[in-house]
Amino acid sequence: MKFSMAGAGPVGQKLIKRDINVLSPSYAREYALVVDKAEGSEVWDVDGRRYVDFMAGVAVLNVGHRHPHVVEAVKEQIDKFWHVCLADFYYPQAVELGEKLQQIAPMDGRSRVYFGNSGTEAVEAAIKLAMYKTGRTRFIGFFGAFHGRTLGSLSFTASKSVQRANYLPGVKVYHLPFPNAYRPVLVQQADESYGDTVIDYLEDLVFRTTLSPEDVAAVLVEPIQGEGGYIVPAPGFFSRLRELCDRHGILLIVDEIQSGVGRTGKWWAIEHEEVQPDIVCFAKGVGSGMPIGGIIAPEAIMDWKPGSHGSTFGGNPVAAISALTTLQVIEEENLLAKADETGQYIMDALVEMAGRHPSLGDVRGRGLMIGMEFVKDRETKERAVKLRDHLIQHAFENGLLLIPCGTNSIRITPPLNIPHKLVEEGLHIFEAALTDAEAKCL
Ligand code: PLP
Repeated sequence: MKFSMAGAGPVGQKLIKRDINVLSPSYAREYALVVDKAEGSEVWDVDGRRYVDFMAGVAVLNVGHRHPHVVEAVKEQIDKFWHVCLADFYYPQAVELGEKLQQIAPMDGRSRVYFGNSGTEAVEAAIKLAMYKTGRTRFIGFFGAFHGRTLGSLSFTASKSVQRANYLPGVKVYHLPFPNAYRPVLVQQADESYGDTVIDYLEDLVFRTTLSPEDVAAVLVEPIQGEGGYIVPAPGFFSRLRELCDRHGILLIVDEIQSGVGRTGKWWAIEHEEVQPDIVCFAKGVGSGMPIGGIIAPEAIMDWKPGSHGSTFGGNPVAAISALTTLQVIEEENLLAKADETGQYIMDALVEMAGRHPSLGDVRGRGLMIGMEFVKDRETKERAVKLRDHLIQHAFENGLLLIPCGTNSIRITPPLNIPHKLVEEGLHIFEAALTDAEAKCL
């Protein structure tokens, strides 16, 4: 059990002691950050220490903490009204947000939007819509995936066994290896992309022996695996998957909860793959921290009957206006291009660092969804878990917020509008932490 006080000041330590006495021990805290306030890409703790934010509230604050336009829109909305229930009545904020999402949806033709409050609810909605539409009850997911913690989404989540232990997930899911070319687990034929290897495994083994494709409602997949280690799928995987789904009448659901709304330099990470999904799940970055999530699907797919799904709070007016304003800011401030540009700058800096630091085994990602995998030896790829943990703690104690992913990886996901001087400052603290971690843990 990790609950460490290391790095917290006296005020923070007192608060952590009270937290431990009252809040659920199921929260697995990364380190002893006790937040007082935040602005843009900087955070201050209750002892007055300042941090550069390379994690953006777990890839949520795409336009930064407290963007002035979002603050203004939320305040105005609170002065008008803040709840009536979208499942029973109408209001403009939800319609306008729906229209904006419709406009940026990664699929041709008219789509429709359903609103819940969180990522896991978005995934639940996608599962239910796929069952409703196809009349089928089996699904395909991926090892390493994270889709949420309610019992439907947990059936797909296969990132850490502690997340599933003691629970009985309710949906029938067949898990496949994710097309991770850095750590392939299937035997790859010569001249074949590992993306093809995974699809061949599904077709030639799983469909032939244990699972009839006619029983499969949908495949649920992250366009870049997030909690599982920031893994970009091997080339060719998504185009083969799309073709296979079409051939068998299987829906393709993409979970863009972490990768969506500009994080990878496009509105949706699936756009890098040049295939169109049937259902998109969104949450996290859409609302700038106001709880909102949901799904987008073509109207031919989202044609369920009134009453077949709904939510009391989903799409509430404050969260909806926060989301609409966030999307407008991304557009007005050209943050897709900015994510691409800053992401490339950070990737280049990390690749250069890899020349000086042997533990940096792999640097990968798209835009500002960047992952690094730490190894004890580049040949054997033995995972350097202690080194990774030491690095994160050292960075925290020296003013940089990072979070892990996968078994031995770290993600870099700052706000898309992080100023260049904070990028430089963060990278400087990062390299000092890496130097210290290599000296102590290699
Ligand atoms: N899907 C992905 C890809 C995620 O990264 C997460 C959360 O990290 C979820 C789903 C679950 O979202 P929430 O925690 O809002 O339920």
